[in-house]
Amino acid sequence: MVCPRKQSLNILGLGYSVGTNGSVVTGDVIVIKTFAELNRRSREIRGKFVVYNYDFNSYDESVAYKLHGASRASKYGAIGALIRSTTPFSNSLPHTGLQIYSKNVRKIPAVSITVEDAELFGRLAARGINITVSLSMEARMDADRVSRNTVSEITGSTKPDEIVLVSGHLDSWDVGQGAMDDGGGAFISWRALSVIKKLGLRPKRTVQSVLWTGEEMGYNGVQQYAQKHINDLNKISIAMESDMGTFTPTGITYSGRNLTAQCIINELLSLLKPINASQLKIGREDGPDIELLVEKGVPGASLDTRNDRYFYYHHTAGDTMSMMSTRDLDLCTAVWAAIAYGLASIDDQLPR
Ligand SMILES: [Zn+2]
Repeated sequence: MVCPRKQSLNILGLGYSVGTNGSVVTGDVIVIKTFAELNRRSREIRGKFVVYNYDFNSYDESVAYKLHGASRASKYGAIGALIRSTTPFSNSLPHTGLQIYSKNVRKIPAVSITVEDAELFGRLAARGINITVSLSMEARMDADRVSRNTVSEITGSTKPDEIVLVSGHLDSWDVGQGAMDDGGGAFISWRALSVIKKLGLRPKRTVQSVLWTGEEMGYNGVQQYAQKHINDLNKISIAMESDMGTFTPTGITYSGRNLTAQCIINELLSLLKPINASQLKIGREDGPDIELLVEKGVPGASLDTRNDRYFYYHHTAGDTMSMMSTRDLDLCTAVWAAIAYGLASIDDQLPR
């Protein structure tokens, strides 16, 4: 910020954003609360930076500003979009994440700013104070490269072609360590298999652990998997995913409609009462990767945990091992291993 005073802003580029091509872009700021306000004030946008200082209610509700804020602003001639981080809590850290340019729109820099800075802009603008910002950003896209899903299996003893799938994604944003998003989900999906193996158990069906690649850039790994296995998706009993944190587990959410299947899962979950993780929720599971498999008819499940703090760390430099709990990881692994082993060991494939 160069006017009304000099202040550095802690920013992160959003996914696929263009940079400023080695130059410094300077312009006035207009602060917007909602897309409706953006449309209403469309004639004031040209040549300015649009700051989105929306009220945060939930991630799902607010994520549209991150995803589409730059494109919407560009339509009215903005020179950049500075977008409030999508989080209910802030310690002055910007949160990055995917943003998408719509077709036929001029690509302008898409930048995440902290909640604190967004609110500062909001206060200054409310007092009618002119705000000017200078932005320099090195963002660029490199050429695509080959990446791979990491797949490991315990081959089923009598039905090796039938699969129970546990998963998390292996890629992460380039700040922090991605320990929570989604190191935790990847860890328990890997570890569940080693627990089953260490216990000397051999399920009837194959338990497959998939660590997806390219989730953050747009679900590249699962798209490849679905394409490759399109003819044997009916052999997958269930696709499980953990991508909403591995905090203290409470149970799972199951998306399948079949009542017998729900009953079987409920029965299995009751075994987890000693660790208070026996809650079954029926409904849309929270698995961005497996969603593609669910759309193609595979029943899906996601891990439920006490994850109120998930978005505090999500896509920030704060997503490190320090916020992870080894005990919670063990408990989540137990849920994953027990459900996967149980469903891989029952006589019939989980009905759908
Ligand atoms: Zn994730």
